[in-house]
Amino acid sequence: MLRIALQKSGRLSEDSYQLFKECGIRFDYGTGKLKSVSSNFPAEFLFLRDDDIPGYVEDGVADLGIVGENVAVETGRPVQTVHKLGFSKCRLSIAIPRGTNWGGIQDLQGKNIATSYPNLLGNYLAEQGVQADIHEISGSVEIAPSIGLAEAVCDIVSSGSTLLSNGLKEVETIFRSEAILIANSALDAEKQALVDKLLFRIKSVQAAKN
Ligand code: ATP
Ligand code: ZN
Repeated sequence: MLRIALQKSGRLSEDSYQLFKECGIRFDYGTGKLKSVSSNFPAEFLFLRDDDIPGYVEDGVADLGIVGENVAVETGRPVQTVHKLGFSKCRLSIAIPRGTNWGGIQDLQGKNIATSYPNLLGNYLAEQGVQADIHEISGSVEIAPSIGLAEAVCDIVSSGSTLLSNGLKEVETIFRSEAILIANSALDAEKQALVDKLLFRIKSVQAAKN
C-alpha cells in the first residue's frame, strides 16, 4: 500500500483531490480526518501542512506527496521529483514599496529583505553577487516594509493583488513554481510498481486535457 501526503487545506488541496478523483481513485477527505484509505486503490492518504510533506517523504513516513516546487526546493530535502502536475502555478518575486525607484537587483545591496524563503532567496542573491540581510518570517511578509522591518520582500505572487493592496510593486521574479509529485528516493519494487500505475493514470488524465 502506498502512503500519499497531501496538503490538508490550502492552495494545493482542491486540485490535488481532484487529480486523484480524475484518476479514478476514491477516498474521503474534508471530514477533519487526518488520514483516509482509498476504497479502490491500494493507497492511504495523509492530510498535512504542505511544509511538512517533503520531510515526511524523505523519512519514508509517506511514499509520495504533492507540494509546490517552491517548498520542495526551499526545504532542500533529498526526495525525487516524479512529475510536474501543472496546477498551483505561482512565482517567487522580490517586491519593494511602490514609490521606490528600481535600478536592478544591485539596489538590494546592504538592505533588509523579509521572506519565508531564505534559502531560495539566499541562493539567488549569492548568484547575483548581492549581499543583503535576509529576515525569515513565516507569514504576512507583505507588511514588513510598512512596519519598518525591511526595505523589500520576497514572496509568492500569483495575481499580484496582495502586493498591490500592501503598497508594493513586483520588481524581479526569482523562481517559478507549480505543484509536483515527489517520492521517497528508495521505494521498494512493489511500491514502485504502484507509483508507475498511478503515474500512468496521471499522464492519461493530463493528456486528455491537452
Ligand atoms: P499550510 O497551512 O498547508 O502550511 P500555506 O499557507 O503554507 O499552507 P498555501 O497558501 O496553501 O500554503 O500555498 C500552498 C502552495 O500553493 C504554495 O507553496 C505555492 O506552491 C502555491 N501557491 C501559493 N500561493 C498561490 C497562489 N496565489 N496561486 C497559486 N498557487 C499558489
Ligand atoms: Zn505551508
